[in-house]
This record gives sequence, structure tokens and C-alpha cells, in this order.
Amino acid sequence: MKYLSTRGLPQKRSFCDILLEGLAPDGGLYLPESYPQINAQELKRLEGVFFQEGYAALAFNILSLFIDDIPSQDLKNLCEKTYTQKTFGTQEIAPVRALDDGLFIQALSNGPTLAFKDMAMQLLGNLFEYELNRKGQELNILGATSGDTGSAAEYAMRGKKGIRVFMTSPHGRMSPFQQAQMFSLLDDNIFNIAIEGVFDDCQDIVKAVSNDLPFKKQLKIGTVNSINWARLLAQVVYYFAGYFQARKMSQKSRISFAVPSGNFGNVCAAHVARMMGLPLHQLVVATNENNVLDEFFKTGVYRVRSSTDTHETSSPSMDISKASNFERFIFDLLDRDGALTNKLFSTDIDAQGYFDLSADPRFKSIREKFGFTSGSSTHQNRLDTIKDVYQKYQEIIDPHTADGLKVAKECTHQDEAIVVLETALPIKFASTITQALGIEPSRPQAFEGIEALPKRVVLMPANVQKIKDFLLENVK
Ligand SMILES: *Cc1c(COP(=O)(O)O)cnc(C)c1O
Repeated sequence: MKYLSTRGLPQKRSFCDILLEGLAPDGGLYLPESYPQINAQELKRLEGVFFQEGYAALAFNILSLFIDDIPSQDLKNLCEKTYTQKTFGTQEIAPVRALDDGLFIQALSNGPTLAFKDMAMQLLGNLFEYELNRKGQELNILGATSGDTGSAAEYAMRGKKGIRVFMTSPHGRMSPFQQAQMFSLLDDNIFNIAIEGVFDDCQDIVKAVSNDLPFKKQLKIGTVNSINWARLLAQVVYYFAGYFQARKMSQKSRISFAVPSGNFGNVCAAHVARMMGLPLHQLVVATNENNVLDEFFKTGVYRVRSSTDTHETSSPSMDISKASNFERFIFDLLDRDGALTNKLFSTDIDAQGYFDLSADPRFKSIREKFGFTSGSSTHQNRLDTIKDVYQKYQEIIDPHTADGLKVAKECTHQDEAIVVLETALPIKFASTITQALGIEPSRPQAFEGIEALPKRVVLMPANVQKIKDFLLENVK
């Protein structure tokens, strides 16, 4: 299996070539040159693998279709080491539960940081360690976070050989729970850097350091952002696992997924699964007030937002100004025309801030050919949905999952079962739950009293040179 760039670069790469990279050299994103096809018989076999051997075995089977440069036994070991009950809380790893007839929730949020990013990041940590060891290299991950991504990265990379994580975050702006989660990690290879500034300042620092190419090369600096192909690939697995479980629990003829979406990473994995032949009916893209994606699926116009036009909402992990994985789907929609994809994402977006596919006949085929539908929510919708679910089913869901559920209900048909992805546990966003229900969500035992644990964090001004000095001091 070879990989190509969405912007048409002629060179093809193998999985391990792109594993440690972000963007392709032409600014595009990597995708497999074709999607491996799963026929009905193979699907039946994979279902058997999942129910008899478990999630790790399913992951190994699916990853094997995309990775041909890691020996089979090694890949199997990596999957088994990653997807354990100890790390993900249940034997099913990503269990599906029924709320109602045809309405399901799939829990992706029982990993170490209680959000779905663990599902991919935990595998990435093990893959990175394996590959760096094979190559005899080291990697220093420099990132910026306002919450979920940074902590998922730190929990995945802690204690890993050959890897250090330098994670900047805006000082005093994350919730006390999120701060405690990150700053209580005392591992030698984890560096928390609280920046006197806002999230944009953190991102600007990361950009400035990464743009200094000699420095970047000297210090072997890399990233773990959501455009990494291996992260996306890891997410494909839980759509198969979710489909198999829902199929078993429901009499409905069709199965769809509703996905709380920001950077389009999660639902892009659903798209890949569907392209492989997993019989998913609809892929419901749920956004919050930052409705860049909903707008595209409704109108054919993809318009990125300025930072003043990007809202801070009560589902903060979906607060995006542009959807960084979206280019992957557009490339497929446009019959993999790299030149046209390049024009849309570099020329059109740069010159005018949007592109418009409303007149392209391929846009009209999105629903039929690719299954996509969409909707969005407001803060009040989230509160109402959280309240409604609590009253009807005595369950508490987090605000992101509430966005997914609200839109799922608008899009589901009679003969269809829908699986809403639970992307975080409510305890991470306790203040919104308290606002909706007047009670605090319960806290998994492992997180009791984490706010009182010793913390390892340095406070620094938003100054690029100071951050570079800090990196130089700590990379030995
Ligand atoms: C990251 C995140 C999302 C959005 O996922 P994308 O892959 O960016 O679309 C939704 N919910 C939670 C809780 C997240 O952490």
C-alpha cells in the first residue's frame, strides 16, 4: 500500500515514511492510493474476529490492509499492547449501548484522558516508539493545546523511549480538571509549558519554532496533530466495531453514525470505512456554532472563519475556524483530482477565504454517493439535549455528544438505527452539566482528587526565543 498527497505530488510513500510526518511536501494531506475493499464475506469474517478475539485483533486485521512495512507479528503486538481493558476501561474498548429503539451511543471516551482522541493517540505513541527505535532516531514533539489534544498526546507518549513532549497551553485558561490531568504527569519526557497568553499565542509560538527549519532539524521537532494519517487510520477501526455491535442489537435495516465534528478527523475515518465497503447508510456531521462544515454540506460553499469569527462555545473541542482534515474528503469527492484540490485549498482559500462547489454536479451527489448529511447546535440545544437524555434515560452525556445526538435525531429515518459517538465524558465539562442539570457528573475513581496532586509545569512569557532556549536546555 502506497500513499499519495491530495495536492498531486507525484512521489508515492509507504506507511512508515509518512508516520512521523505532518503535511506532504506540497502542503497536501496523505491518503492511501486506493481503499482496500471489504466484501460481504470478509465483513462476516471481521465480525467474527471482533466478537471472538476482540478489538485489538480487529484493529490488527484492519491496519494490516494499510500497513505493509511493519512485520505482521510486530503490528499485532503493537495493537495488543494498545487496546487493553486496563487502558480503555472495558473489554469491548469501544462499547455500544442502547438509549432507545434504534438509538445507540458508542463510548470512545473511557481512555486515560476521557476523550476520544485517546483511541488513536495511544496507538500513535506505540507506533512512534517502535519506528523511532527501528530507525535509531529521536523525536521532540512540540504542540499547542487548549485541552483535549495535548493531554491525549502526553498520556500516549509518557515514558516512551526516544520521545519528548513539549506542550504549550494558555496559562489559567484550561479547566482545573484539564490542568490537573496534564500537569500532574511527572514523567521525565513530558514538559508542560504554561504560556502567559491565549491559545493563539501558543499556536503562533509553535508555528514560529517549526518555521525555523535549521532549528527544527537540529532538535528533531515534530507534531502529533489531527492530520496525521496513522491517527485517522486508528479511528477507522471503531466504526467497524460500532457497526458490528449495533447490527447485533438492532432490527433496523440500516445503520448510520452521527459524529460530533470539528477538524473532520473523526468523521473522515467513517468516510474511509464506508469507502472500504462498510455498509454505513448516513454519516451525520454534527457541528456547534462553529458551523463551517454544516454550511458546506448544506450549500457547497466552504468558507474558513477568521479568529474573531470563531466562537468560544460550551463544546470547546469543536471550536474550529477551518476543518484541517476536510481536504481529504474533497479530494475523493473530486475524483482524486490533485490539481483541482490544490487550487481550491491553496489558491481559492488564500485569495478569497472560500471555495464554492455548489455548481459542481459532484456536490449534488454527496448524500447519495458518500452518505453525508449535517446539522448544527447552539448552547441552548446542548443544555436541552443533556436535560432530555437525563430525564428520559437517567444518563448524563457530555456537551459534544449532545451536539451529536441533537443532530442525529433530526436526520434519522424510520428504518434506520443511528450510533452517536460519545467523544468525551461529562466530568471534563462539569460546569455545562451543572448548568443543564443542577448536579455534578460523577468522576471515574482514578480521577478522584487529581487537582491536589503535585504539578510539573513551567510558566513562560509568549516569547519564541525563550521557548527555543527551553527546548535547547532540555533536549540532550
Ligand atoms: C477533538 C474532539 C472532537 C472533534 O473531533 P474532530 O476529529 O476534530 O472532528 C469532538 N469532541 C471531542 C470531545 C473532541 O476532543
